[in-house]
Amino acid sequence: MLIDRARLLATLRKLLEIESPSGKEADVARYVVAELTAMGGKVVVDATGNVIARFAGEGEPVLLSAHLDTVLPTTGLRIVESDGKWRSDGTTILGADDKTGVAAILEAIRSLREKQVRHSPVEVVFTLSEEIGLIGAKALDCSQITARRGICLDSSGPVGTVIVSGPSQISLDITVTGKAAHAGMAPERGINAIAAAAEAIAGMHLGRIDEQTTANVGVIHGGTARNIVPEKATVLAEARSRDENRLRAQVDLMTRAFKEAAARHGAVADVSTEYAYRSFNLSQNDEVVHMVAVASKKLGIDVHLGAGGGGSDANVFNERGIKTVNLGIGYEDPHSPSEYVVIADLVRSAELLCAALSL
Ligand SMILES: [Zn+2]
Repeated sequence: MLIDRARLLATLRKLLEIESPSGKEADVARYVVAELTAMGGKVVVDATGNVIARFAGEGEPVLLSAHLDTVLPTTGLRIVESDGKWRSDGTTILGADDKTGVAAILEAIRSLREKQVRHSPVEVVFTLSEEIGLIGAKALDCSQITARRGICLDSSGPVGTVIVSGPSQISLDITVTGKAAHAGMAPERGINAIAAAAEAIAGMHLGRIDEQTTANVGVIHGGTARNIVPEKATVLAEARSRDENRLRAQVDLMTRAFKEAAARHGAVADVSTEYAYRSFNLSQNDEVVHMVAVASKKLGIDVHLGAGGGGSDANVFNERGIKTVNLGIGYEDPHSPSEYVVIADLVRSAELLCAALSL
């Protein structure tokens, strides 16, 4: 085994113990900057706070990426070890999403350099605020990145999981405007914006629309007081699809549902839409997929090419022309107190990185 299992776990423990909710990644960034520098990397922190490190090597460069932030809560984290897994004590999340990715990258590069194994040039990008809209990756100046192929370590699933496609997401911000009136004395003078929004949502197909497409209404706000017919209702919704035509069709349906329901009530619905991120679709013919497949085979790891349902930094890198897969690294149930990481999968993931970089 090329990597040092104990050191990998010590690094993971340290990373988990440094709290880094989205927007508050400075402490963990300082830690990884020190580690990358000690390993001989040329490290820069960009204006957003993303940490970028370069390691010289031979051949075509490879981007390795993971994100530094976690969801909440993490205060008072206590790591519980059992059955080859690490989890929290159930009162916080663990933060394995994505500290395991960070730990695997650090250990892989450290091992390759320490043992003087010939490897590809590596560009490491540790991003900020992935969890709140891929903010770090979107702000990254990709003209500074020379790699045309990348590996994100930020998927649940066992080692061997290779996410090669992901959906586009469109965010919908809806404001329904009716007319305020006293609810008891003059309700007929009012137009109830909440009722109009509710009618639109009730008639809408949400959840899994088809194999490629999902839709959700996630937040609704409206009204100011019990005794006032509400003038405004705002709704935050989204649709995702790995098929652009289906995505547009779903967004059009949702938009029309709000406009038509509002009109029936004499209200007006203003709907603004924006791409949150774009889909990607790689295949076995793409060099990066081939590289991971060959490295996996070398280690006897079964590869499963899969489609992701979420957005990740991989979406952004692919959009910017860096063909990037997202690897399963052994964490499960992310964003929940039952989140855990299978240590054997994490160890194999670090080994897989070593193999991929030194093919
Ligand atoms: Zn993540």
